[in-house]
Amino acid sequence: MKNTILIVEDETAIREMLSFSLMQAGYISLQAKDAMAALAIIDDIAPDLIIIDWGLPQINGLELVNRIRDNEVVEDIPIIMLTARAEESDKIKGLEAGVDDYMTKPVSIKELQARIKAQLRRARGFKKSEVISFGGISMDMSAHRITVEGKEMELSITEYNLIRLFIKNPERLFSREQILNHVWGRNSIVELRTVDVHILRLRKALKAFNKDHCLKTVRGAGYKFIEN
Ligand code: CA
Repeated sequence: MKNTILIVEDETAIREMLSFSLMQAGYISLQAKDAMAALAIIDDIAPDLIIIDWGLPQINGLELVNRIRDNEVVEDIPIIMLTARAEESDKIKGLEAGVDDYMTKPVSIKELQARIKAQLRRARGFKKSEVISFGGISMDMSAHRITVEGKEMELSITEYNLIRLFIKNPERLFSREQILNHVWGRNSIVELRTVDVHILRLRKALKAFNKDHCLKTVRGAGYKFIEN
């Protein structure tokens, strides 16, 4: 199976050059020109690795790393940071933010390929093979899969994050604010009604498996996941 790599870089020429060389090396490459575009992609697809340029417009690479690390589903994805700055203090900041590796521009493609391989190998070794079940719904944490009686429930990353929160915390009432913090991260700029939109989508997915009654709305308080 091909690994998917997301490249977040605002300079078109560099982004396309990296993308081209990754495709040549057998990866599926996704491109984002800024942090918001990257977050939108991550919301739908969990890449196997992310390459982030430090100097991005609006939200810089470091802040993007923080947002990714706040998101429970993608928090373990290896990140390689590219930067034009060579200062030690910047490297330390990057490593503290949860960057797995670091490369100074101009990037040697050969070296980048080697580092990507090393990170992917390491990530595979770390994957937890944990399966949690509740109310007849099984969640395979390593495969990011939700199944009911062996049948897979197709979910976007956000809906997966939601159900993961509920299954890990059965019977617990969550306010919309709490859900927002857990699923989108504390620094997110998402509005509260977005929570309701995704709850609705999750409920629809659950309904196809006759499990929508598990996701209970507690009027004026929030949502909780129950067995019956
Ligand atoms: Ca840049």
